[in-house]
Amino acid sequence: MYDKQNIFARILRQEVPCQKVWEDRAALIFCDINPAAPIHFIAIPKGEYESFSDFTINADADFNQQFWQAIGKIIKKTKCLANGYRLISNCGIRGGQTIPHFHVHILGGRQLGTLVGAD
Ligand code: AMP
Repeated sequence: MYDKQNIFARILRQEVPCQKVWEDRAALIFCDINPAAPIHFIAIPKGEYESFSDFTINADADFNQQFWQAIGKIIKKTKCLANGYRLISNCGIRGGQTIPHFHVHILGGRQLGTLVGAD
């Protein structure tokens, strides 16, 4: 069951501020509060979806397309991602997800290291 009090749901309802970099009908994209790279954005869909599979299976095709296009557009707009970037979506306990609202990390601005850490 979707937790309506998770921090990203609260950001969507504007109960908690964020450093917004993109917003449209489908997506809100903002800076991660604890950045792991010079560019570290969080992209969230405007709906109650817990994970990648929840969103991609249960949101309709137009919504899916608009959400992924928003990510593509902010990447294109952000000049220091021109040399490369990484998208990550942690899902579930073993995937390291800490906030139960589907989100995509957009990372870049430096040479990124290994894909999966040792721990
Ligand atoms: P995950 O571990 O994939 O669930 O990632 C959650 C991410 O959300 C972490 O990178 C946090 O730093 C980030 N985060 C938590 N609270 C906030 C917030 N209020 N504004 C922006 N980012 C946040």
